[in-house]
Amino acid sequence: MNEKQIVKMILIILLFSLLIIFGLIVRNTYINKIKPINEKKVYLEKLKQNNKNIINKIKEENRKSKNIDNILKENKAKREQLEKKVYEKESNISGKVIYLTFDDGPSIYTNEILNILDKYKIKATFFVVCSNNLEEYTKKYIEKGHTIGLHSCTHKYSNIYSSEESYFNDLNYLSSLVEKYTGYKSKYIRFPGGSSNTVSRFNRGIMTRLSNKLKENGYKYFDWNIDSNDAAGANSNQIYSNVIGALENNNRNISMVLMHDTKSSTKDALDSIIKDALQMGYTFANINDYTPEVHHGINN
Ligand SMILES: [Zn+2]
Repeated sequence: MNEKQIVKMILIILLFSLLIIFGLIVRNTYINKIKPINEKKVYLEKLKQNNKNIINKIKEENRKSKNIDNILKENKAKREQLEKKVYEKESNISGKVIYLTFDDGPSIYTNEILNILDKYKIKATFFVVCSNNLEEYTKKYIEKGHTIGLHSCTHKYSNIYSSEESYFNDLNYLSSLVEKYTGYKSKYIRFPGGSSNTVSRFNRGIMTRLSNKLKENGYKYFDWNIDSNDAAGANSNQIYSNVIGALENNNRNISMVLMHDTKSSTKDALDSIIKDALQMGYTFANINDYTPEVHHGINN
């Protein structure tokens, strides 16, 4: 081996060594840096896929629960319809129905009104105020199967329509008395002056706010579509013709009649009104959960 050959050999060995070192560096770089990055990428991809799966599952569950909600709603509506039918059948309500409603009592005339209703086996609705004999009569109403509605404790427009708070303080007090006397919590309301009253205009928008709030709190309010006009001072003949005339002239399925058991003229007209309405083919009922809410247009 001459000198040249030895140098060549050494160079070749050096080159190989360099190649091996380079190879080792590349390998280490891959193991230490690129491989973990790749593994992380794969892991992230997996996570993304998992997330997608979870989101899809949530969507699917939401869809299912919406379906269940819809089915529940449908079932509830069906049940209510059936209950209404059962109620109507049990209470013999069919065709055209009259709801007699008596506001502002009880009073000294209430007993005679109850007797007339008994005579015809008719149920009615009494929208009561805080009168002296409230306890005695609310108990009687329940015993006889009439409906107790809430009118107002004080019936003072200037007070009850001065604010929502005043209205509900007055209403809640009356409601608590009725509940104390009878154990019954009425959710049927008649606004003093009706929901269309303009006497409350000293407080702009109060009737709109009150009617919304009553609904929110689970109450139902009832206006009327026949006014006997007894509160305005009609005598018994006029009351009779106001009611019977309206029944003859309109063709409604639901007649909600406004009367007041604080008027002797009302008590005097009642017997003939019931007798003739029955002859005209009407049936009578008291307000219940299935009674359509007769509403006026709100003017304030
Ligand atoms: Zn009244």
